[in-house]
Amino acid sequence: MYPSPETTNLITIAQARSVSRRRFLWDVARTTAATSIFGLRSFGQNSRISLPARRLVVVTFGGGARDEETFAVEGQRYIPRMLGELIPQATFFTQVVNRGILGHYVANASLTTGCYESFDNFIPTPPSNPTLFEYYRRDRAARADDVWVIAPSNGFDRIGASTHPAYGSQLGATMVLPKQLLGGLANRKAGAFDHLLTDSYEDNSKVSVSSQHALTLTALADRLKLPVSDFLAYAATVTSPDELSLYIARHLMSHLAPSLIWITLHDIDVAHAGAYSLYTDAITRTDRICAELWKTIETNPEYAGKTDMFVLPDFGRDSDFEPGGNGFQHHRTGDALSRTTWMLALGPGIRQNVSVDRRLDSIDLVPTLAAKLGCNAAFAQGKIITEVLA
Ligand SMILES: [Zn+2]
Repeated sequence: MYPSPETTNLITIAQARSVSRRRFLWDVARTTAATSIFGLRSFGQNSRISLPARRLVVVTFGGGARDEETFAVEGQRYIPRMLGELIPQATFFTQVVNRGILGHYVANASLTTGCYESFDNFIPTPPSNPTLFEYYRRDRAARADDVWVIAPSNGFDRIGASTHPAYGSQLGATMVLPKQLLGGLANRKAGAFDHLLTDSYEDNSKVSVSSQHALTLTALADRLKLPVSDFLAYAATVTSPDELSLYIARHLMSHLAPSLIWITLHDIDVAHAGAYSLYTDAITRTDRICAELWKTIETNPEYAGKTDMFVLPDFGRDSDFEPGGNGFQHHRTGDALSRTTWMLALGPGIRQNVSVDRRLDSIDLVPTLAAKLGCNAAFAQGKIITEVLA
């Protein structure tokens, strides 16, 4: 069977994007000479590797940014921490293609199952294929407190478990939806926290007040030994929901130290509002949050030296040249550039300072993480990314 013209086009453009990302990174290495400089090597060239990780943190760089605002010369100023701190310690994959539906919930669900899920993005339904969380909990007899998902809004509240008959919610992750914790406050003053409560940047809807599938504020406070008053006082100081996610993740790591944490960042999707500066501010914030998560890992004895972190976007955004789109604002055309992203992986079981240019599929993540965690992703459709295995 011959590939369709659309598939051929996607492959061609994805390969070209991989080459340009690699070139951008080489240029950064060459022009930033003295300090944290990385001379990105091809995979396999004399790179360091040590013992495999025992803990895992996965971060989605969401809702997706273009190379023009990240790796390209004009975009590098928005991601200084990834370029200066994370990539020099990482294996960087220049070509990760998402062939599924480009809606955030369904795309993130697909990332957790290793299958391209096909449900309606705007209906809160669980994925039908088992998630990584269920594989891990069943095969490793892990408690719910050992597997956590921190996600941006209502649309994601079913991401922690599937409806698969051999798995299901009894084996799912513990879910935290930071916006919903605030939206559900019984005595919230009118207007309080409103700037943090947008559920979807696509239709500007507000977060609803409760979910059967996520922790309540009281339950979270109890589990993390975090006074509700402290959480609310912190929330009053931040401008972004992803900052709240970082705050919760840090408390979680300090107090429960779960083996698997999945954090879905989403601030960048404010791009749907059409304001370029909000979009680039969110990219810089996301860049900082990723670096701070890694710093937290490195300074927490429960995680330091035994944790791998994976960072990848759920997908990209429309190019400036696609007639059906509106550039950075949306991801509605399904064009090749909005499907072609990247991934970085770092930790004790992963080679530092190398790049991999072969094409990966988004759904390759789950079987790879399952191999790292010692569980069997029996229904995942992707292939194991051998470059990150010890
Ligand atoms: Zn979006």
